[in-house]
Amino acid sequence: MKILENFDLTKFNTFGIKTNAKYFVEISKEEELLELISNPIFQNNPRLFLGGGSNILFTKDFDGLVILNKLTGIEILKEDEDDVYVKAYGGEIWHDLVLFTVNKGYFGLENLSLIPGSVGASPVQNIGAYGSELKDSFFSLTALDIETGEFRDFSKDECEFGYRDSVFKNKYKNRFFIVSVIFKLSKKQSLNTDYRVLKNYINENKIEVRNSKDISDIVATIRRSKLPDPKVLGNAGSFFKNTYISKDKLEELQKSYPEIPYFLEEDKIKIPTAWLIETCGFKGKSFGNVGIHEKQALILVNHGGGEGAEIKDLALNIAKNVYDKFGIEIIPEVNIL
Ligand SMILES: Cc1cc2nc3c(=O)[nH]c(=O)nc-3n(C[C@H](O)[C@H](O)[C@H](O)COP(=O)(O)OP(=O)(O)OC[C@H]3O[C@@H](n4cnc5c(N)ncnc54)[C@H](O)[C@@H]3O)c2cc1C
Repeated sequence: MKILENFDLTKFNTFGIKTNAKYFVEISKEEELLELISNPIFQNNPRLFLGGGSNILFTKDFDGLVILNKLTGIEILKEDEDDVYVKAYGGEIWHDLVLFTVNKGYFGLENLSLIPGSVGASPVQNIGAYGSELKDSFFSLTALDIETGEFRDFSKDECEFGYRDSVFKNKYKNRFFIVSVIFKLSKKQSLNTDYRVLKNYINENKIEVRNSKDISDIVATIRRSKLPDPKVLGNAGSFFKNTYISKDKLEELQKSYPEIPYFLEEDKIKIPTAWLIETCGFKGKSFGNVGIHEKQALILVNHGGGEGAEIKDLALNIAKNVYDKFGIEIIPEVNIL
């Protein structure tokens, strides 16, 4: 384990923002984690846990220690006729885990195919896509409490999962380093094709869906056609969360915007934040080196040479415009540092 100084993080964040960490360390064994927490550099500096850097916006240099999760390994813990418990270490690439499970014919993670980033970060914001969320297949995780130096297991309830949210974004932010996650997956055919975009794609292309690998392939194809590849155009996926409003608010908005799209989710009303941003005229616009993606108004992009502060200013400008027009506060999904 080697702690590096003044480390360039440009390749470690998908926005491709040029920024430096005062200290940087890569952890590839659990023993190194224990060794690290007794190191004075660890004890005397702010710390940042890092996976793929696909949900982080650096607005300045990080004046502390960045800890890159490189703990790898995927194993089947136990199985019965119906279910299988798969454990994956936090430094595994999320999509590699999805492929491991669908290639074995397990059900649960296929709708979450091709989400960038690491397994260790996946519970932090309860990743979700195409009608599925991490919490649907989550069983438990093990994390290191960096205040006490002890490992702790978290059950699903203890993670307090919500929409793009968990206890690790709130009261335990920056306190628990997620070492490994256990998923409970089904061995019985249980496909989830209810999500509108997915269902339409299957129907329009007359695809016969036989197994979870088929869903994984379809989701990957749709995502590749819609989302910018961070290797080509810097971005962190959706910059803002979708918006939930009350029935009264919806009725108020419908008076001025009868065409406003909305979705009923149990007792909640979801408004696509992309529609709010698009209606404010931001979609596809550029502001200096940064801008809003031409196909998806939720995605802020770095056209090259952009600074994190420019993207943050753009996000604030968008949020102000949305508030002024609709009286709705939109909330960032990306971690702004
Ligand atoms: C093109 C694109 C598409 C995307 N699509 C989706 C999508 O469909 N659905 C979705 O939910 N997200 C999506 N995202 C966001 C992103 O992929 C997820 O949030 C992902 O889980 C982030 O993983 P990461 O390893 O890159 O995390 P990082 O960006 O490295 O970290 C994110 C947060 O988690 C913390 N963290 C990282 N590792 C650990 C750890 N081991 N222990 C504790 N905390 C940790 C970090 O400190 C930070 O606060 C997309 C991003 C991109 C670029």
